[in-house]
Amino acid sequence: MEQLGFEGMPRRLYACTPTRLSTWLDCPRRYRMSYLDRPQPRKGLPWAHNSLGASVHNALAGWWRLPRRERSVAAAGELLDRGWLTDGFADATASAQHRVRARKMVQDYVAGLDPADEPAGVERTVATRTDLIAVSGRIDRLDLRRTGSGGDAGEFVDDASEIVVVDYKTGRHLLTVDDARTSMPLALYALAAGRVLRRPCRRVELHHLPTGRVLAWEHTQESLDRQLRRAEDIAAECAAADGLYRGGLPPAACDEAFPPRTGPGCGWCDYRGHCPEGMAAAEPRRPWDGLAPIAPAGPASANPASAGPASANPASAGPAPADGIAP
Ligand code: SF4
Repeated sequence: MEQLGFEGMPRRLYACTPTRLSTWLDCPRRYRMSYLDRPQPRKGLPWAHNSLGASVHNALAGWWRLPRRERSVAAAGELLDRGWLTDGFADATASAQHRVRARKMVQDYVAGLDPADEPAGVERTVATRTDLIAVSGRIDRLDLRRTGSGGDAGEFVDDASEIVVVDYKTGRHLLTVDDARTSMPLALYALAAGRVLRRPCRRVELHHLPTGRVLAWEHTQESLDRQLRRAEDIAAECAAADGLYRGGLPPAACDEAFPPRTGPGCGWCDYRGHCPEGMAAAEPRRPWDGLAPIAPAGPASANPASAGPASANPASAGPAPADGIAP
């Protein structure tokens, strides 16, 4: 179908990731600083919760890449230890304490997995397109699950299977099924994975490692299509704003096209230091403030569970390349 712009000109396909669209929704000014301003404004200090999240994600991805016979609980712990990232922690002692906790988190999680249950993909990049957008992203894990009764004697029949999107979460926020249901990124991943692997993919799951809970949602084709239309609408806004920016905007018009959207999340924003409105809206956070306290809460670590960075969608909290990791 031909795509027409406002002046009858063909419209270019808008290439994006779910994270880019979510960033626009969260705060257009942050979107501008993340994706358009070049050189990119200097970010604040690295966050310890991002280090923890990336370490855990890397360990789990590495575990699935081991030969099947080596996928033990101990091996998961070793991978975590070897790949531990230390940026953002208060000091070496705090880093070591959180490493021990993260190792247990990873080991407890893999203890519940079947090493022989080969995923259809690990940190797999998928992409799909419509008439308006080309969307791509990296998924923590894609499972191949049986549907229906399968073959005789319970044997696994490949045709009787579906793809499931698995997104690991390591933050302290308690998640609900609604987080899985309403996540646009997860829905886009499901659509893209289904198209790339040519198999039904409607189920999305958030695996919250700190609690061991799995928050799952089974989409319908209609709910997936709804999320896709929503993504197209957001992408149209991004494309219009990108066009204005590239056309050259005086500072006042820039704020109009990319207004700051202040809130408690400003305390966690990487660009807070460049944003007077954000600095006025929220207290700064220390790089380790997103971590759950290790010991009985003391004055330095007594952060309520709700004190983590705001995130418009849970799937943006994974370690995929463009994604930040929210506590
Ligand atoms: S500090 Fe707040 S308002 Fe400013 S860019 Fe960041 S999220 Fe947006």
